[in-house]
Amino acid sequence: MAKYIYLNGELVAPEDAKISVLDHGVLYGDGVFEGIRAYNGRVFRLDQHLHRLYDSAHVIHMQIPLSVAEMEQAVVETVRANALRDCYIRLVVTRGPGDLGLDPRRCPRPTVIIIADSIELYPQRYYDEGLHVITCATRRNSPEALDPSIKSLNYLNNIMAKIETVQAGVPEGIMLSSEGYVAECTGDNIFVVQHGEVLTPPMSVGNLAGITAQVTMEILREMDIPVAAENFRILTAYTADEVFLTGTAAEIAPVVQVDGRKIGDGKPGEITRKIHERFHQITQIEGTPVYG
Ligand code: PMP
Repeated sequence: MAKYIYLNGELVAPEDAKISVLDHGVLYGDGVFEGIRAYNGRVFRLDQHLHRLYDSAHVIHMQIPLSVAEMEQAVVETVRANALRDCYIRLVVTRGPGDLGLDPRRCPRPTVIIIADSIELYPQRYYDEGLHVITCATRRNSPEALDPSIKSLNYLNNIMAKIETVQAGVPEGIMLSSEGYVAECTGDNIFVVQHGEVLTPPMSVGNLAGITAQVTMEILREMDIPVAAENFRILTAYTADEVFLTGTAAEIAPVVQVDGRKIGDGKPGEITRKIHERFHQITQIEGTPVYG
């Protein structure tokens, strides 16, 4: 449990971290957020996470009341106040308190929340044995209606899909675009490996530009493994040699079964394992230092 939570410029005890019921984050899911991790006393890819947060806020016409440098400082101070070296950081900026109508002009000041806490990781057996996933019936939000590249507090689309995975007894689920292309998972991006080449859906299909996916691309280039962002259907995943998921919480997670079809030889793939190994190395040396 976090000792201190950052709320609008102050570090307060969790029991004092309270926001208004008139906050439009509560009333409408109006706001943006980030899920970030610290490893070994360093916040991993903080710049990229803040960039995505400020971009998301810009798209929804919300002015975050801190500069990027101030926000960076606030994140670092929150981790330090909790004396954490390895943790998950949830950064939330809501539209702030207003009235009962939709109009964001009635919300003069966004609410800024930073929670740093220990994380609930996937169990080690998921990495050793691989995950089983399903394709969800719930389609990913259409980018023409609400672009999934905005990391907004409106996560109902993902939650509906997550409920399907819970009912199916699997830890993740693949979400398709309304055209039937593979888009992403409920909280992770997806990659497939076929004949030594790696494919991942392009952002234009409607997905989040994952930071872990970006690091994965860098690792693949470093390893001289060809990678392309191209649309593909679920059948491509069924017949792939390897499938893996990427995300801040999951890191690089091997998938060994999709909708009951065995992937490759049914064991985590070699390329997946190598990427995860390199990812782990990078997280141990890179990042914004918390303790000087
Ligand atoms: N897609 C969705 C819908 C997500 O919620 C997340 C987690 N933020 C991701 C992909 C993975 O993104 P990242 O690697 O930045 O955590």
